[in-house]
Amino acid sequence: MMKVPFFRPSITEAEIDEVVDTLRSGWLTTGPKTKKFEQQFAEKLGVKHAVAVNSCTAALHLSLEAVGIQRGELVLVPTYTFAATAEVVRYFDAIPVMVDCTDDTLCMDMDKARETLESIRNGKDVVGHRPPYGRVRAMIPVHYGGQMADVDEARKLCDEFKCAMIEDAAHCLPAFAQSDDGDWRKIGTTGDIVCFSFYANKCMTTGEGGMAVTNNAEYADRMRVMSLHGMSKDAWRRFDTGASWYYEIVAPGFKYNLTDIASAIGIQQLARSDALWEERTSLAAKYSKAFAECPQLRTPFVRSDRKSSWHLYPIRIDTNALTIDRGQFIEELGKRGIGTSVHWMPLHLHPYYRETYGTSRGMYPVAEAVYDQIISLPLFPGLTNDEQKHVIVSTLDVISTYKK
Ligand SMILES: *Cc1c(COP(=O)(O)O)cnc(C)c1O
Repeated sequence: MMKVPFFRPSITEAEIDEVVDTLRSGWLTTGPKTKKFEQQFAEKLGVKHAVAVNSCTAALHLSLEAVGIQRGELVLVPTYTFAATAEVVRYFDAIPVMVDCTDDTLCMDMDKARETLESIRNGKDVVGHRPPYGRVRAMIPVHYGGQMADVDEARKLCDEFKCAMIEDAAHCLPAFAQSDDGDWRKIGTTGDIVCFSFYANKCMTTGEGGMAVTNNAEYADRMRVMSLHGMSKDAWRRFDTGASWYYEIVAPGFKYNLTDIASAIGIQQLARSDALWEERTSLAAKYSKAFAECPQLRTPFVRSDRKSSWHLYPIRIDTNALTIDRGQFIEELGKRGIGTSVHWMPLHLHPYYRETYGTSRGMYPVAEAVYDQIISLPLFPGLTNDEQKHVIVSTLDVISTYKK
């Protein structure tokens, strides 16, 4: 039986050669390759500053620090996201206020975000919290699966309620959103700070890694300093021959710098990022075409004013039309040799959030309904025709076997 993994990284001789070059260079940690990677990343996105770090989680953490978050303040996050988006808020003993997603894009529902912000302004209870609580410091929209959230509406809300817009763009590279005036805007250019992930299965990888981009020089400087022990600017230069040994600690920073070994992979992945995107886009189109006539499943929806990076290909099965549930469906695909995943169980259903904020089923009905039906199918550059056919045939076979 053919086996199809959920993911296989796309690594070519170019990445391998670049890493070998770094290994031979005598400079392994943050240095010239990281500088180059940052410059090329900023240039590619059309933003002024890019700060390389060792994960997207680190980038989100540094972003909140840079916008000056304080203990007890509030940050709006979607409940339909990965752990990282909200845990970084907890690092500051601040409060993640969860918001439901829209049924079509699975991104944060901006109408509900507005309702939540208005409740806060009126001093009402917000999820698990009674006033007094701190001010709303930030909102973190997540671009689910690679499709940009409603960034125009998010910007309006952030301006009106005077909070920072930090984007979790872990699923994006590249991605585009069209404004009402018809302008196409690139991912990275719409938020105050936008955070990317280079985890192994993301659109481009450095094994582990991340990037925070911004047009705000103050934010960029602060994130750079805090990413390396709070050392005054460009401390990595201190090991250059002729460079000064002197540095000052200006804050108790973190250890989030990206190595040159990782940046070497990043430089070559970035160079291939459009080609990788084209391949994912064409694979996604093939899936959507193959499943178009199947009423028991729903293919991902992309707005006409969006271009998705296609990090994920999540289908939603109509469990009312089948005799098996989502978990059993995944088992059936597993028996046919297919690796899948679930993105995600909503945050508010996890024990930590239930126990800390008293959240439970029923509070975010859209995210809950999506969670019960969603399955991510294999989608990665290098997925062969035969492999994709096997996924399609098997999915349709499970449906015809178990349909009511
Ligand atoms: C993967 C992911 C992250 C975390 O990225 P790391 O680089 O692993 O820290 C954050 N947010 C979302 C939505 C993700 O999918």
